[in-house]
Amino acid sequence: MWTTYGQDHLLKRLEPSLRQRRQSHAYLLSGPPHVGKMTLAINLSQAVNCLEGPGVPCGSCTQCTRIARGLHADIRILAPGQGEDARSARTVIGINEVKEALGRLHLNPYEGSTSVVIFDGAESMSDEAANALLKTLEEPPPQVMLLLLTANEDAVLPTVRSRCQTLSLMTLSKDQMVDRLATGHQATPEQAEQLFRLSRGCLGWAISALEDAQVLEQRQADLEKLQETLDAGLETRFTYANEVASLFGSDREAAKELLALWLRWWRDLLLIKEGAEEFLQNLDYAESLRSQASGLSTLEIVQFINHLMQTLSSLDSNVSPRLAMEVLMLNLPIEAGQV
Ligand SMILES: [Zn+2]
Repeated sequence: MWTTYGQDHLLKRLEPSLRQRRQSHAYLLSGPPHVGKMTLAINLSQAVNCLEGPGVPCGSCTQCTRIARGLHADIRILAPGQGEDARSARTVIGINEVKEALGRLHLNPYEGSTSVVIFDGAESMSDEAANALLKTLEEPPPQVMLLLLTANEDAVLPTVRSRCQTLSLMTLSKDQMVDRLATGHQATPEQAEQLFRLSRGCLGWAISALEDAQVLEQRQADLEKLQETLDAGLETRFTYANEVASLFGSDREAAKELLALWLRWWRDLLLIKEGAEEFLQNLDYAESLRSQASGLSTLEIVQFINHLMQTLSSLDSNVSPRLAMEVLMLNLPIEAGQV
């Protein structure tokens, strides 16, 4: 069975081709962080290797269970931050790991019927790595499936994108998420509603917040730091810029999520200015948001939102994180009443 939830529009499309073993050799799985791209990628890897198959993965044969446990020799996951040597390998998927993974595709699978390479963060690939991938996409060996996962489809090379079938994952509706969290994860209705709002319909985030109290604690700490930074002078702002830049070096996804949290905060400030409080994402911080919004003009808020979006997109094109963050801090408005 599929463990992917809320993506029936894709499963309906995939099932017939999987059953006839006529699936595409390359898919681009696109959607916001934690929407379920990796879950679908694992499910697809199972579907093409399942002993009960082909078609829907059974979830219980040796192939399905070994894949689910991350033990299967023919399923490789590449992500930024795994490379050994080059400094850049911390923020991109590097050429060495890509070459090694693609080289193996020319051998027969070891234990299954189809080799799969999953690129987790396909937008973060060095140019050399993307070109190596392109060659394989142009002439794929048989019994191979390439799965490219991205939260930013536009940042994936168009030549790579055009050789993949795109699967766009959708966020869940409120009813879908509340139902899923209540039946599958014993959440109370209040918890489920709050998690829907905070996760913006991304089930993976909601489940991790439910299972690990640290996720919500981290959000709280990040939001407090954000407010402090707005109240602080340039020196503190630059110190914070450096902290985020270091985080970017050690955990790229966490840093991007932090900036996305900033973006949502600033959108909330704009919603308050526009008198649309019912749409606030950080509803539990309404008081702080109101007080901050009163010290800023709508124009300042809009301009900073634009700066944040530019920063996020420039970080995907591999500019220096430190420089990008410092420029962002220079553009952070000073609240009325502050010096
Ligand atoms: Zn199976």
